[in-house]
Amino acid sequence: MAAPFEGKRALVLGVANKRSIAWAIAQRLADGGARLAFTYQGERIQKSVADLAVTVDTALVTECDVRSDDDVTRVFGEVGDAFGGELDILVHSVAFAAAEDLEGRFTDTPRDRFWLALDISAYSLVACAKAAEPLMEQAGGGSIVTMTYLGGERVVPHYNVMGVAKATLDASMRYLASDLGEKNIRVNAISAGPVRTLAARSIAGFPTMEAIVEERAPLHRPIDADDVAAGAAYLLGDGAKNVTGTTLYVDSGYHAMGM
Ligand code: NAD
Repeated sequence: MAAPFEGKRALVLGVANKRSIAWAIAQRLADGGARLAFTYQGERIQKSVADLAVTVDTALVTECDVRSDDDVTRVFGEVGDAFGGELDILVHSVAFAAAEDLEGRFTDTPRDRFWLALDISAYSLVACAKAAEPLMEQAGGGSIVTMTYLGGERVVPHYNVMGVAKATLDASMRYLASDLGEKNIRVNAISAGPVRTLAARSIAGFPTMEAIVEERAPLHRPIDADDVAAGAAYLLGDGAKNVTGTTLYVDSGYHAMGM
């Protein structure tokens, strides 16, 4: 069988280290023949991302803080230069909320940190999709995948403001899918069960989330980043050419349970 991503050009946002979901997806894309571009946030993780990027077919590694419109504009300019003015795939795997807002009461979330969480975790998808649009249009279409979580649909203790951000992300995904469909650009989300990553470690009670999934999910087993990457590869690939505006749950079936 031909490599599924041969000739495809992909931008991946959200690699922090080898445990990042974004890295698992990047490896799938690279294994399938894609050429990659990566962004990293902040000098602290530059080396870790650069060290991973050299192990796959990488055209670009550049800094991007998604809070900055200037950064987003510059990054997509660099991506256009690296990929001949075209882009096929965008992986959005970025989220942030202050650690103090991922414990205690949601009711106590202050205004500034509420907007910070929504800016980084939800608006960034809108900004990046808009910047990707002309490059994907030039390529004849494209596919965008973002990472969400059940805590945006139902209350998950401690997830708090990040749940509100994920609800915003989910709705943004659907509105973007509606706008961009006429350009053959698809936008979908993966709702992942708990995966032990850097971001996950900042959620109070994360081990409890893992334990409850294992106890109650229909498949009674944990999921890992590679399971999420397999779902992403489906949504990003031609096999999903008529799938947009949807959420794929990679959570051992936990979302289906009432109790
Ligand atoms: P991670 O810490 O490896 O990735 C989060 C990424 O967000 C990091 O690379 C970080 O640099 C980036 N980021 C944070 N603030 C940023 C900013 N201002 N600008 C640019 N990048 C910024 O953790 P992960 O678990 O791989 O998270 C990836 C995505 O998956 C997130 O959206 C997360 O909410 C989602 N998700 C994770 C789980 C899980 O259990 N790990 C479950 C469901 C959804």
